[in-house]
Amino acid sequence: MGHLSLHYRAAKHNTVIQRIKQGTDTMNKTLVASTVALLMPLSACATTDADTEKSESRLTREQQAAKTEVWEPVPEVVSFDKAGVPSDSISLIGDDLSNWTSVKEGDAKWTLENGVLTVKPGTGDIKTKAEFCDVQLHVEWKAPQPEAGMEGQQRNNSGIFLQQRYEIQVLDSYQNKTYPNGQAASVYKQTIPLVNAMKAPGEWQTYDIIYKAPTFNGEALATKGYVTVIHNGVVVQNHTEIQGTTEWIGAPKYKAHGCAPLQLQDHGNLVSFKNMWVRPL
Ligand code: MG
Repeated sequence: MGHLSLHYRAAKHNTVIQRIKQGTDTMNKTLVASTVALLMPLSACATTDADTEKSESRLTREQQAAKTEVWEPVPEVVSFDKAGVPSDSISLIGDDLSNWTSVKEGDAKWTLENGVLTVKPGTGDIKTKAEFCDVQLHVEWKAPQPEAGMEGQQRNNSGIFLQQRYEIQVLDSYQNKTYPNGQAASVYKQTIPLVNAMKAPGEWQTYDIIYKAPTFNGEALATKGYVTVIHNGVVVQNHTEIQGTTEWIGAPKYKAHGCAPLQLQDHGNLVSFKNMWVRPL
């Protein structure tokens, strides 16, 4: 019995060991399988990155740099005339007033002499015959010496209406107090210029205007208009949001429209304009 018992115990012991071993094997297999499963994506990524790095390192630095060079489209070449007017611009004040019409009716009746266009008070605003949307606009303007008693908005007022609706104010704002959202280079009754960059009356002033027209989905406003104004080389409106049409009384509002003329204001004063050119964008 002793021997048998020993044998039996030994056999049982072996079976137990075998089972444990089997179990361990299964566990090990499972562990290995899950570890491999876990590491697979990582090792796959690492391999790809390494491969990329390897192939990159085979390129010269010049070849690597060339990968981010864009060769098309090639910008059109712009040249300049003696006055610095870009060749791709449309000149609006030429030898005659053929680019303009009166807003009221008929021909524009302002005075044109030696390339200088001056308001003829009482004849009304004038507008370009051409219609524009987004533009870069350059214009030079001059307010004459003020007459006695001319103050605030009465001191040689005019204006440049983008798309006949949104006024960039023209006013002699040299030592002339008025509401700042109505001084020169304001988006009239909306946005005060960042600084007052006025030169004295009698001197030519420059405006460089970059205008992004509002867009509409049918009657609904899709995107507002924006305007940047550089007055005598100084940024005075920096991508300013246009709140709506220029209103003398009441709040600005948007009403759907398409491309439209540029308009100059007859406010009853002898304000002059010259070297006005526009580049549709
Ligand atoms: Mg005005």
